[in-house]
Amino acid sequence: TIRLDGKTALVTAAGQGIGRATALAFAEAGATVHATDVNEALLAALPKQANLIPARLDVLDENAVKACVASIGTVDILFNCAGFVHAGSILEMKDEDLDFAMDLNLRSMIRTIRAVLPGMLAQQDGAIINMSSVASSIKGVPNRFAYGVTKAAVLGLTKSVAADYVAQGIRCNAICPGTVESPSLQERMKAQGDYETARAAFIARQPMGRLGTPEEIAELAVYLAGATYTSGQAYAIDGGWTI
Ligand code: NAD
Repeated sequence: TIRLDGKTALVTAAGQGIGRATALAFAEAGATVHATDVNEALLAALPKQANLIPARLDVLDENAVKACVASIGTVDILFNCAGFVHAGSILEMKDEDLDFAMDLNLRSMIRTIRAVLPGMLAQQDGAIINMSSVASSIKGVPNRFAYGVTKAAVLGLTKSVAADYVAQGIRCNAICPGTVESPSLQERMKAQGDYETARAAFIARQPMGRLGTPEEIAELAVYLAGATYTSGQAYAIDGGWTI
């Protein structure tokens, strides 16, 4: 069993979905967890426990990221979970949607990693976990152009950081889920008009015949937070989608 006692973790987008489940799992494993999100109402609904510290953080704001990390001190575990799913093909995509996706899904990770790396390097130890998707360079998924582009870039970022710092105690890995039950997935299903048909379609693309749960993804995040012999990898956890 992986234990994270004595470790300090920073989780982005911890207000709901996978980020929330992972913040709780890190805390359960013994870490002191700074659970951050742009949405304060969601943070207020997190369970009250001594080692789960909610804080508002908009990962689009470079100064806010720097200030957040400065207030924490050395971060041992960084989980970059913030991300947004745009619908549409290359012809349907608005340029501003791609700019936003690049900023939230990719550049936010560059901001947080730049902020935490000096502290990790000083102690020659750190685990960085980036949220990608199998909808990336692993798999082309219809109607997900901006999303697929940015989540593929997350894998490039992950491998570059891993390569630069592998001999200095830094491990940087990516999680690539299939379709996971979450509030934003619920919104995407409802937005399609016929909720039941949309839900059936999302389930149909998962060969295991069901959606994943945030808790299943959180278990992998805990493993990667503590695992000592892996870096630069894209971990698919996708209900068999990419078999
Ligand atoms: P979600 O989409 O339901 O929640 C996203 C959270 O991000 C919200 O709490 C929101 O307040 C927060 N957020 C949005 N903008 C932010 C900002 N600027 N700064 C800080 N926080 C911000 O959660 P989810 O579906 O579990 O997705 C989490 C991550 O997992 C995303 O990166 C997503 O792309 C990825 N992912 C999800 C699935 C899935 O099927 N749910 C599959 C693969 C990858």
